[in-house]
Amino acid sequence: MDIVKGNMGWIEVVVGPMFSGKSEELIRRLRRAEIARQRVQIFKPVIDQRYSVSGIVSHSGLELGSDLVRTAEEILEKVEPRTEVIGIDEGQFLGEGLLSTCNKLADAGKRVIVTGLDTDFMGRPFEPMPRLLAMAEEITKLLAICVRCGNPAVHTQRLVASEELIVVGAGGMYEARCRRCFEPNLAAQKVDEEKASTVKVRAAIR
Ligand SMILES: [Zn+2]
Repeated sequence: MDIVKGNMGWIEVVVGPMFSGKSEELIRRLRRAEIARQRVQIFKPVIDQRYSVSGIVSHSGLELGSDLVRTAEEILEKVEPRTEVIGIDEGQFLGEGLLSTCNKLADAGKRVIVTGLDTDFMGRPFEPMPRLLAMAEEITKLLAICVRCGNPAVHTQRLVASEELIVVGAGGMYEARCRRCFEPNLAAQKVDEEKASTVKVRAAIR
């Protein structure tokens, strides 16, 4: 966003798989705003409590204090009138309300920066991020590095057995995979394997 006249707001979205550096990019942009003496507020969903209770932490350990919210609407209540830049981390956990919240803030002249996963553990679009991308003025898609082959990785590979959409965790539960190495059905296969082995154990007990 090079030329912005008056106090027009806008929406920037940073998407990509886990381990692609989204939180680091958010922290970088917010730090620069702080250096420019702009008033910054940061929000993240209460569901993501890894590492720190009230701060955004990237996997590499960068940290910035943040407010926890349960819904996107709560952000509207907590934003102070003088705030100029608003960072929202892990936007995929905030539901459909994220779209109207971001639009209201941008319409009110604020710069809104949202990060989140654009696809889920099956490689499907992870709402509401894809729709937010359609509304945003600026989009950045980051890629991770595939842990199998070293190619650019677009996918978040779930390694544990669960078909739930949201299973929060980092170390050991997920890894970045490229298009070729991604196994979208791995989580479902593991669920089946676990069921099969439970049946075997039950049969052995009998
Ligand atoms: Zn690969």
